[in-house]
Amino acid sequence: MVAEVSGGQNRLDQITRTIADGTGHDVCSIYLLRDPSTLELCASAGLNASAVHLTRLRVDEGLVGKVARRMAPLNTANAPQEPGFRFMPETGEEVFKSFLGVPLQRLGEPLGVLVIQSRESRLCSDDEVVMLEVVAMFLADMTELGAFVADNQAMAAPHTRSVEFNGGIGQEGLAEGHVLLHEPRVVLTNPVADDPEIEYGRLEDAIGKMRGHVDELAMMARRSANVEQREIVETYRMFANSRGWVDRIRDHIRGGLSAEAAVEMEQSNARARMAQVPDAYIRERLHDLDDLSNRLLRTLTGQGLGQRDNIPEDPILVARQLGPGELLEYGRGLKGVILEGGSIGSHVTIIARAMAIPLLIHVEGITTEALNGDQVFVDGERGVAYLRPGAEIADAFRNRISHRASQTESYKNIRNKPATTRDGETISLHMNAGVMTDLPNLESSGAEGVGLFRTELRFLAKPALPRRGELARQYSDVLDSAGGKPVVFRTLDIGSDKVLPYINREDEPNPALGWRAIRIGLERTGVLRMQAEALIRGAKGRPLTVMFPLVAEPNEFYRAREIFNEIVDSERKRGRPVPSELKMGAMLETPSLAFAHDEFFELTAFLSIGGNDLKQFFFAADRENERVRSRYDTLSLSYLGFIEHIVERCRSSGTRLSYCGETAGMPLEAICLSAIGLRMLSMRSASIGRVKHNLRRVSLEEVRVAIQAARADNAQSARQHVADALGPALYFNP
Ligand code: PEP
Ligand code: MG
Repeated sequence: MVAEVSGGQNRLDQITRTIADGTGHDVCSIYLLRDPSTLELCASAGLNASAVHLTRLRVDEGLVGKVARRMAPLNTANAPQEPGFRFMPETGEEVFKSFLGVPLQRLGEPLGVLVIQSRESRLCSDDEVVMLEVVAMFLADMTELGAFVADNQAMAAPHTRSVEFNGGIGQEGLAEGHVLLHEPRVVLTNPVADDPEIEYGRLEDAIGKMRGHVDELAMMARRSANVEQREIVETYRMFANSRGWVDRIRDHIRGGLSAEAAVEMEQSNARARMAQVPDAYIRERLHDLDDLSNRLLRTLTGQGLGQRDNIPEDPILVARQLGPGELLEYGRGLKGVILEGGSIGSHVTIIARAMAIPLLIHVEGITTEALNGDQVFVDGERGVAYLRPGAEIADAFRNRISHRASQTESYKNIRNKPATTRDGETISLHMNAGVMTDLPNLESSGAEGVGLFRTELRFLAKPALPRRGELARQYSDVLDSAGGKPVVFRTLDIGSDKVLPYINREDEPNPALGWRAIRIGLERTGVLRMQAEALIRGAKGRPLTVMFPLVAEPNEFYRAREIFNEIVDSERKRGRPVPSELKMGAMLETPSLAFAHDEFFELTAFLSIGGNDLKQFFFAADRENERVRSRYDTLSLSYLGFIEHIVERCRSSGTRLSYCGETAGMPLEAICLSAIGLRMLSMRSASIGRVKHNLRRVSLEEVRVAIQAARADNAQSARQHVADALGPALYFNP
């Protein structure tokens, strides 16, 4: 029937008739989801033909709705007496007593319900239930493959529809491309097999490979102290070695399924069972089980294994979660990234920003809906992903892309002009960088230098500690590419969410407040010294500027500085060239440093406010936790007041001050920071044109007046007052 060339409806009708006859039941019906909450009777042998495509019910209605909602079979000898039964007169089903309904689903994604009924009141046997589930699995695959697509919308294959997903914006920008699934969904092409022995053998092979892989992961996890990583691997091991799991898969093979279909059947069942579990933590573990089943499916089908060789020309990466190292591995070829998870402050986001790749976060459900190669648009201005867009959306979207391109073109006209405000204040704009490929942006963006070079990105992209010589070469290349423009190298800033598996870490209840950044550097001095040597050698006698991350107390800064000075001395003694000038500064990322003694402000060559961390500690709101992060506005008057305090202290000690958190790249924020006295901002290169463009159109005095007015009005944030005061001066579009 699958192979026969006939219309979708014909095929469905034929199938219901065959199932009814084959099972000796009076009725077989197929209900498909018309939308996520409505089921439609799409074919029936035995019910009134006139009810087909007329009878609709909500997923919480009747016995059919119950099957769809619970994603579990419902088997009863007396349907009218079953709780939840709903009488639908148009179908003529009142005469049928026995009812067996099984969900049509693909990996927990509901597609519809398959029902058999008969006049006589009898309960179907377990074998019959299993048999109908196997049939349902075929139907689900066929539904997905579009076998029933006809004029009627309810029968459109789920993976051919145009779908819009809303999410959050990780990195602005518009992109058009084709889906590259980080972990591609496997499409089953041979659900049945004649010889179970062969299938058992295939399953054993695949399980052997999978267990080998899990053991490797476990070895790695043992070396890392990352609790989450260990937990995941432990769950992997638990499932991978579970006899019950394998036995259930073997049972499905015995029932006539191919090894891959059997794995998928068990995966679907497990999803349905676990979805009912009220404990959110256990439900979360479902993802781990999925990963494991997916690995098995990929081995069995060979799909997705060589996918790195099969990347579309304009790839948009779609993933549930992604680590910073993984994103770096994919590299700059990506046109965009869409994540189901993620957060604005996470490092994968920062890297996407550094690479100027449009990124959407919190796009729920996209990994289940998208297939490799699907066309997709990333709207990083509105936070929308358009999957398989229709012609109208495509036209409008392409118009916007060309509009933005002309806007970027217009920023080029001011590339070599200063960011001087209408009232004559000049703000120095620098860029944040972290990988070599960022450097060409120094020229194209018009940045005056690199205000923050995140050296850890190189470490994050590698499975082992990079060698000193290799780092020295990188630092030297960075200075070469900067062509004399200043570069501020930040020493290794790891810990918290930036985990290096080879640097052991204690289990920490609050990693953001834990063993990280300069704290690691001062305890693992070997790593800091190695990096200091690499930086000093990489400078090759040129001036060198370094800063230390997350300095909370002056002593930490003094000790780090001492290490650098010692290395300069020893290099000099060995007759090696040393930097013509070595400037050392600190990042101000903890409120404590803002209240450090005067001497510190005098001794540090400069300070750079790491607003991403400072803001999280100021508001006690985890930058990784979207739920609390966005509760607090950077333009809150308390935060601005705190920054003013820092500006004031630097002014009286004559300390150079800059701001290098992500907010420096947002026009309104950049304007307010400048208004309260910042004269140097460092941001991702893609923001420089827009920030400069806006700064050149405002008077900082007017902004200060607006901030004062907000204070006088007892406002919580200056945002509204400043935006109102600037009005048309804020000019985002050409
Ligand atoms: C910051 O905290 O603002 C900062 C620039 O450092 P990172 O985002 O790398 O922690
Ligand atoms: Mg920081």
